[in-house]
Amino acid sequence: MKIQAPVAKNETYTGTVMDLTYEGNGVVKIDNYSLFIANALPGEEIKFVVTKVGKSFGFGRVLEHLTTSPDRAEIDAKDRKLAQAGIAPLQHMVYPAQLRFKQHQIESLLAKNKLELSVSETIGMETPYHYRNKAQIPVRNVHGELETGFYRQHSHDLVPLTDFYIQDPRIDKAIVIVRDILRAENVPAYDEKTHKGIIRNIMVRQSYYEKEMMIGLITNSHTLPRAKAIVEQISEQLPEVTSIIQNVNNRPTNVILGPITNVLYGEPVIHDSLLGNRFEISAQSFYQVNPVQTEKLYQLAIDRAGLTGSETVIDAYCGIGTISLAMARHAKDVYGVEVVSTAVEDAKKNAKLNGLTNLHFATNKAEYQMAEWQKQGLKPDVIVVDPPRKGLDETLIESAAEMQPKKIVYVSCNPSTLVRDIQRFAEKGYHVTEPIQPVDQFPQTPHIESVTLLEKD
Ligand code: SAH
Repeated sequence: MKIQAPVAKNETYTGTVMDLTYEGNGVVKIDNYSLFIANALPGEEIKFVVTKVGKSFGFGRVLEHLTTSPDRAEIDAKDRKLAQAGIAPLQHMVYPAQLRFKQHQIESLLAKNKLELSVSETIGMETPYHYRNKAQIPVRNVHGELETGFYRQHSHDLVPLTDFYIQDPRIDKAIVIVRDILRAENVPAYDEKTHKGIIRNIMVRQSYYEKEMMIGLITNSHTLPRAKAIVEQISEQLPEVTSIIQNVNNRPTNVILGPITNVLYGEPVIHDSLLGNRFEISAQSFYQVNPVQTEKLYQLAIDRAGLTGSETVIDAYCGIGTISLAMARHAKDVYGVEVVSTAVEDAKKNAKLNGLTNLHFATNKAEYQMAEWQKQGLKPDVIVVDPPRKGLDETLIESAAEMQPKKIVYVSCNPSTLVRDIQRFAEKGYHVTEPIQPVDQFPQTPHIESVTLLEKD
């Protein structure tokens, strides 16, 4: 039976916002048909135009707020540009409301699955903007001039932008300086349609505790014209720059970095610290983007693990070993596993750099390596998991439970897979014993990170 949507595209309606989706869009229902609308908060009455009609739900755009929520934050013209770019989708909510939104998202997923578990208030940031330590900014030609900015949401149209709001302001400043140098040296911006031009992206990484900055020029060509002059001017105008790299990406793809990286100036890495450990970070390595909140997140994971110095710990999905090293200072042995081999090399190097000898790293899929360790008779006291959005593989949960650790600490970046995995762990005799603790790693965006402790019955 074909269901007819009760709304039509380009028509105008009024309605009351009932809820927020996990993406932070307001939900308005018309005859039980849901419309998702950005910049609309629960309780608000809005006039909106329908922009897209799907089979079971549609999308709309606010034309007017007839009433406004007490949770609404002021938005000025500059912020509207950010909204267009989708950089800060929750910027129209005051920060305490963003934190409640994140807690509530986990609570409602638990309730939907009939799990009676509590969720603590989200641990927020004192200054919930200017936090990102990394940027990868597209470079395009706009009206005959090389511009840096951001894509308009769901498009590849560049919106020129100089204040990115959630990035470290030193990064914003560096991007403008590099942009002006590239303009002065007449280096052509990349053109996606013709696949011609040279500069595709500017990448900047800034260390939080040290005065080091990496500038990456991502090019469509192997050679970078005027490289010497460009490097000289960057290092002169940005004395904190300790690394300039060129990364070649000549494929027509949305992936930002290509396989070849040349060092144009200084070192191939920058250094930063997390909970007292120093890390080498290369252009390609995954590194948490919010250093202030990452320290809170990791400390929480350590606290929940209840380490006393005598434990054997497994850190699954360990990346460059940031959690492993933090735990190694409070444990007897730490075993880390990660699928990306360069990250594992970094993890080993980082352990050495910090004089730690109680770490053991494996390059493998976590689900395979856990089965391997279980076969070998490894008996961890604590297992930490920090998987990507898709959550844990079922076989990993089986091997983890068979090793019978006392505690499992689950660091999650996706509440829906977390809630699924909590149920799978329950079947194996592991239950949540403390309130789930969200930690806001990504203020102004709907991303939700949390720490959950599971213990054996
Ligand atoms: N704990 C680290 C990394 C977390 S991100 C940190 O806090 O920095 C998740 C990591 O899981 C990434 O490094 C990714 O490369 C890795 N990964 C993804 N799928 C994997 C799998 N099946 N097995 C092992 N590692 C995986």
